[in-house]
Amino acid sequence: MTELLPNYVNGRWQTGSGEGAALIDPVLATELVRVDATGLDLPAAFAYAREQGGGALRALSYAQRAVMLAAAVKVLQGQRDAYYEIATANSGTVKNDSAVDIDGAIFTLSTYAKLGEGLGDRHFMLDGEMARLGKDPLFQSQHVLTPTRGVALFINAFNFPAWGLWEKAAPALLSGVPVIIKPATATAWLTQRMVEDVVKAGIFPPGALSIVCGSSAGLMDQLQPFDVVSFTGSAETAAVIRSHPAVVRHSVRVNIEADSVNSALLLPGEAAGSESFDLLVKEVAREMTVKSGQKCTAIRRVFVQETMYDAVAAAISARLAKTTVGNPRNESVRMGALVNRAQLVSVREGLHTLQQHADTLYDGSKQEWVDADPALACCLGPVLLGSRHADDAAVVHDIEVFGPVATLLPYRDSAHALELVRRGQGSLVASIYGRDVSAMAKTALALADSHGRVHSVSPDVAALHTGHGNVMPQSLHGGPGRAGGGEELGGLRALNFYHRRSAIQASTAVLTQLG
Ligand code: NAP
Repeated sequence: MTELLPNYVNGRWQTGSGEGAALIDPVLATELVRVDATGLDLPAAFAYAREQGGGALRALSYAQRAVMLAAAVKVLQGQRDAYYEIATANSGTVKNDSAVDIDGAIFTLSTYAKLGEGLGDRHFMLDGEMARLGKDPLFQSQHVLTPTRGVALFINAFNFPAWGLWEKAAPALLSGVPVIIKPATATAWLTQRMVEDVVKAGIFPPGALSIVCGSSAGLMDQLQPFDVVSFTGSAETAAVIRSHPAVVRHSVRVNIEADSVNSALLLPGEAAGSESFDLLVKEVAREMTVKSGQKCTAIRRVFVQETMYDAVAAAISARLAKTTVGNPRNESVRMGALVNRAQLVSVREGLHTLQQHADTLYDGSKQEWVDADPALACCLGPVLLGSRHADDAAVVHDIEVFGPVATLLPYRDSAHALELVRRGQGSLVASIYGRDVSAMAKTALALADSHGRVHSVSPDVAALHTGHGNVMPQSLHGGPGRAGGGEELGGLRALNFYHRRSAIQASTAVLTQLG
């Protein structure tokens, strides 16, 4: 039997009392480690985090907590090689794809360390100015934001075990709120290892950071009125979280990041081979293949003018044909595996469904793999689909195939393009490609109400733009509607979720004492 990873709750490392679930290498099919949460005293774990962790964190200022984040960055940086090894083995990702998760995590944490430094030695934040409540200016109202006196429970998806932890934990810990993280079982190892390294370094006060690996059973039952939950995962699990009795009974604040059918749009008037055309083609091929398309922000639908359909199809296909697929340990491989067999089956099923309604323009699913046994490895080459009848291809706008698959769709004019993009019913991100800056600004605004982020790529930022699918801590991450309705990151905006807003009504003399 492989090693059973311990959980960290109640200020102690504790292994579950069951056999545990095995974490499997998706390329070699070998068992790596096991995780189990059976028998943990969850009520005590939550109470410990809430009281010990929360109390100690709130006693510190933002600047003091920011110093701790910066110290955690150093610890994580020191262990990067170990994290890359775990990612290769457990997520089946090539080095560049592991970097999106691991270095993305460290960058996000360091961004919040810097932002926190700027908040100084305060223990709360003022929200806006004092407002007069009557004619006499003496009695006024001042809004304040104070850290919530609860725990932040994080339930994460399998595709970002490192970044998923720190993009949530950084703003929570900076806010003074203790964290209990429950990573997705399939890839829990990297999250567990990062927590272990940071806990062992003794940076945060006891109870500030806890981790439960394995089953989620009983976790949600522990929630109390001042706790918050941040969930990333499928729309189905999101519905379970939202309607959980503890959430409903205690009005627990919940943030949901769910699935999303993101778009890329080539603006009208771009010829084949133009700079904008090339930028779109490059980005679509990249988004389809980075992390084997297992990114919540990945491009799933590509919209181009009718006249451009064939040229774009040919150019994306030509790029995809260069993608070598297989064992991420082989230097020549550009795309590794899907995370496990269940995901491979799910992606194949989703692809099959889409293929009933769309043509297959490029089929990498039958290509040979490098250094990987077809009977064991969970690899799948990229597949570009297309439908000339974008209005009729309903499933293409509805189904998120969480793998290296995207669909090309033609539009008649700008209004038609916007209508089709919005059929995603709310997405994390849309990207726009073109050289007409006025049309680009108009399109960005038109899509803003249905997207958490609109990524606009004009030729002048060809070498500067941060990528359609890359989530930058300075910008909002989340999306309305089917994307879950959540908001994360966006610089200091992320701290709002972990604070309570309250209006203090008092004499001006009292309000000036607030500081
Ligand atoms: P999932 O099956 O919904 O699982 C997500 C998490 O929920 C896992 O930690 C899972 O634990 C846990 N969970 C499952 N059932 C639960 C329950 N009844 N109560 C509490 N927790 C429960 O999603 P996934 O397959 O890991 O992730 C893929 C999906 O996530 C995709 O649809 C993708 O679009 C979405 N995603 C969204 C974002 C975003 O930021 N918007 C980012 C990444 C991924 P176990 O692993 O132990 O089952």
